[in-house]
Amino acid sequence: MSDIITFRAEEAAPEREAVFRHQGIPSGRSVPARTEELFDQSVEIFIHSAAPSGVLARISQTEFADVYRGEGMNEARTPVADIYESADDLALFAVTVGARVCQEIDACFTSGDPALGCMLDSVASNAADRTAELVQRFFETALHVHKRLPPESAVLRYSPGYCGWHISGQRKLFDFLRPERIGVSLRDSFLMEPLKSVSGVIIAGRKEIHDFANTYDFCSRCEDQGCRERIRALDAYKPK
Ligand code: SF4
Repeated sequence: MSDIITFRAEEAAPEREAVFRHQGIPSGRSVPARTEELFDQSVEIFIHSAAPSGVLARISQTEFADVYRGEGMNEARTPVADIYESADDLALFAVTVGARVCQEIDACFTSGDPALGCMLDSVASNAADRTAELVQRFFETALHVHKRLPPESAVLRYSPGYCGWHISGQRKLFDFLRPERIGVSLRDSFLMEPLKSVSGVIIAGRKEIHDFANTYDFCSRCEDQGCRERIRALDAYKPK
């Protein structure tokens, strides 16, 4: 299975709270009217300039072992290495909100409106994550339709550059998935072009396999401990 999926910009547009959180404003805190204006303006620019899309390809455990090995630079122990062999299904994915949004962000900075540029940057980053979530749901639905998603399963995604999976892992991921098909290429630095893109592996399996202790060597240097929130959410997780 290899699919290219397109979304309407409205589907990918992020929620206000998520964008403000990304800007360091806690949920529920009132914000100045000017900040609200910048958010509204940014969403409007996003809707007019974004072209969210994704590419998704199922991959066997044997194939993924080679992709995951990458350039041999991963940490010795990582969550993905500990999880994927227990998975029922795996898929590689890449998504983007498109090049025009990134050009609009650059234009804000070059035209002397950094406040709008920062807000649009947050909107686009959140939208890229939301597009990844939409692709994850697409995969989840496909598994459900084909009766490959037993009860008590969870479908979650993991990306190179995080939690011990070295960013250079992008090279083999790109070789397998060919995200160039949706206009996403890889820079020498392994960052993606357009920048507002996300890639990784979606892992479907029993909920327990996603429930790991944050005791890897690199966890002591992790500021957001983002895995904890995802693991807490597993209890309430229901396949969409
Ligand atoms: S604590 Fe941070 S680095 Fe460690 S697994 Fe969780 S998210 Fe990854």
